[in-house]
Amino acid sequence: MNRLGVVGWPVAHSRSPAIQNAALRAAGLGDSWRYQLLPVPPELFEETVRSLPALGFRGVNVTIPHKALALALATSATERATAIGAANTLLFEPDGDIHADNTDAPAFANAVAAILPIPGCRALVMGAGGAARAAVWTLLDAGAAEVFVWNRTRARALELCAELGSTPLEPDALMSPIDVIANATSIGLREGDSIADFPPFVQPNRIATYTAVVDFVYTEHETPLLEAARHAGVPTVDGLELLVGQGALAFEKFTGRPASLEVMRAAVQL
Ligand code: NAP
Repeated sequence: MNRLGVVGWPVAHSRSPAIQNAALRAAGLGDSWRYQLLPVPPELFEETVRSLPALGFRGVNVTIPHKALALALATSATERATAIGAANTLLFEPDGDIHADNTDAPAFANAVAAILPIPGCRALVMGAGGAARAAVWTLLDAGAAEVFVWNRTRARALELCAELGSTPLEPDALMSPIDVIANATSIGLREGDSIADFPPFVQPNRIATYTAVVDFVYTEHETPLLEAARHAGVPTVDGLELLVGQGALAFEKFTGRPASLEVMRAAVQL
């Protein structure tokens, strides 16, 4: 049996086993590959991951809170994982190499590019954690003209911008149109979060000024940001589409086979 899994803490809520096992079955690999949940606390992350190849694991996805640790223990990494400082995919190679990649980044690029051309665009990313770093790096790598960053804790936005080459948001940046805005904070994740929890530049009276709205957050219900965008008629990308996108790219790395996005989209529905 070829084994795969998602390592996280907590991870019980993850949709990755559903989408990956559906894709494995669709590719005719259902009898020889299996993808499972791997709940692992941070203090056991390194020793657990190092023990997985001997147990038949060919690779794992990595989620909160382990993405930086995953990059740190890898023996090789893609340029994007290194630049972002986080890995969501580890491949266990036959020669013992543990190879790290970040498929959140190309999944985000593909989803945005389906709505508008990234080269030359002006973008605004909310947040300064792992998802924000992936979004900022990706937009700049794909040729965005300017990427502004807003974060609740401004010092973290300044740090991210200094490192990745983006621009801390100042009020005058909002005087010219911004093409794409991405929520990479956890606003919207908690029950009871509303659009009022976002900063003024994404309130309902402003949201129609954007060409596209992306929300990394996904929940059982439509998030407040995407609901506001839909009411304003603005095209959106939701967190489930990003999850499917990163999962499909990881699947292809794990198995060497193309992933069925259609099958994964059907399996991801909460
Ligand atoms: P993270 O590293 O923990 O960063 C969390 C970010 O949210 C920080 O910028 C934090 O700001 C901000 N934040 C938290 N509570 C806030 C509040 N009440 N008001 C304003 N800002 C707040 O998390 P992450 O890994 O970047 O993930 C961010 C979100 O994206 C999570 O909801 C995660 O589930 C989601 N995500 C989805 C996908 C996908 O495939 N769809 C992939 C990755 C992440 P401070 O710096 O001020 O604390």
